[in-house]
Amino acid sequence: MIDMNRRFLVLCSVGLCTVMFANAQDRKGGDPKLSEYYEPAAPVVTPGKTASEPPSDAIVLFDGKDASKWLAKGGGAVAWTVADGALTVKGRTGEITSKDKFGDCQLHIEWRAPAEVKGEGQGRGNSGIFLMGKYELQVLDNYDNKTYVNGQAASIYKQLPPLVNACRPPGEWQTYDVVFIAPTFNPNGSVKTQARITVIHNGVLVQNNMAIQGATQYIGLASYEKHEAKEPIILQDHGNPVSFRNIWVRNL
Ligand code: MG
Repeated sequence: MIDMNRRFLVLCSVGLCTVMFANAQDRKGGDPKLSEYYEPAAPVVTPGKTASEPPSDAIVLFDGKDASKWLAKGGGAVAWTVADGALTVKGRTGEITSKDKFGDCQLHIEWRAPAEVKGEGQGRGNSGIFLMGKYELQVLDNYDNKTYVNGQAASIYKQLPPLVNACRPPGEWQTYDVVFIAPTFNPNGSVKTQARITVIHNGVLVQNNMAIQGATQYIGLASYEKHEAKEPIILQDHGNPVSFRNIWVRNL
């Protein structure tokens, strides 16, 4: 009789453990395959050999050889200098505009302020990258060069200062890696969603998914005016011989 009771207790214990184990499995979600899927597959992109090189799906706007992907102000061939793999501002010839137009995009661009330091504040190594031709990501030699913080390098000019100053010394190449989300507009022209921007300067996060307040203004507050879903990129002529290279864009 004692043996029978002991056997009954052992069987009950084994049964209880089995139920507890099964409940624990249920709490973990059961079959792991239920949360896995295979379609649609991510497209294959061949990355560049270095972070400077364009991935296979990028549109190359400057490969070091010619400025054929750009137009001078008012149209026609660009007067800026192409030499030694760089495209350099020729002062007072005017801004240049990309022939291609972009909306949401990833942009890689490298820039270099002149090695010979001239001027101060906004007068030293000034250029700019106008996304959609309207929203300026500032290019400026801010290595040991003070200016208003919302106008320094990697600021969204007169709107958003960078989180940190990650400038390299003048004469050295610097990188901007940008994720830009275009603004959207309601049929009546009002803003539906603001533009957003993330910028990594020389590998350092400086703009973290920030909302842009409107088109860049030199005087007064930025404001939005309805525009196309895709617009060209403009590079600024601010009179300083700033150079650019390895410019490529991926449509998102
Ligand atoms: Mg500028």
